[in-house]
Amino acid sequence: MAVKQTAGRRDLGEFAPKFAQLNDDVLFGEVWSREDKLSLRDRSIVTVVALLSQGLTDSSFQYHLMTAKKNGITKTEIAEILTHAAFYAGWPKAWAAFRMAKEIWMEETDGCARAEHENSMVFPIGNPNDGFAQYFIGQSYLAPLSNSQAGIFNVTFEPGCRNNWHIHHADQGGGQILVCVAGRGFYQEDGREAQELHAGDVVNIPVGVKHWHGAAPDSWFSHLAVEVPGENCSNEWLEPVTDEIYSRLK
Ligand code: MN
Repeated sequence: MAVKQTAGRRDLGEFAPKFAQLNDDVLFGEVWSREDKLSLRDRSIVTVVALLSQGLTDSSFQYHLMTAKKNGITKTEIAEILTHAAFYAGWPKAWAAFRMAKEIWMEETDGCARAEHENSMVFPIGNPNDGFAQYFIGQSYLAPLSNSQAGIFNVTFEPGCRNNWHIHHADQGGGQILVCVAGRGFYQEDGREAQELHAGDVVNIPVGVKHWHGAAPDSWFSHLAVEVPGENCSNEWLEPVTDEIYSRLK
């Protein structure tokens, strides 16, 4: 099947119609299309390495990396291809290529896992939780669900993400209720073992108790945070949950 390419005519059709035609119809339409002679996947490897060896890590290189991914080159394979080529083409060229490849192969993996997690629950993930980022390790997201009577937020943690130790204060009432909606996470009170959490679990957090909550190291996690109404409610943010404590969790 012929590979369809229109970039030549789109970008240079008026300025250089012959070049555009050779690019779209000959290079892609004929050479790239000879799949019975060499697969698209192999052609992608040849092209990426040829461009890399010239140090051409520009937008056309980016296009060919994306094409390589589409043609089935995995993250492991592109890392191996660029490492191998580095010895023949030049170390700095491989560095430049890696910067671009990392974005192309990482982006989608992360995006996919997040989308998969979002599809597994009825509440939205919301936006990056920038307002509280200083009290978290890793990336969290916040979706406000209720702003009256009781504040309810869907809080989502990427794998490995957790909030700092903290205490919910109030003169009367107050505290927090966690309703787990998706993924796997942990809740821990100071001086106690961490408690593993799954969708459907509910945690009542009284005022004055030092604790943290977050995702498991290998799983996305979301819980609703219900802010129990009270008098003079406030949150006291304390030190981060160290890797020493967190790495004991499985
Ligand atoms: Mn809390």
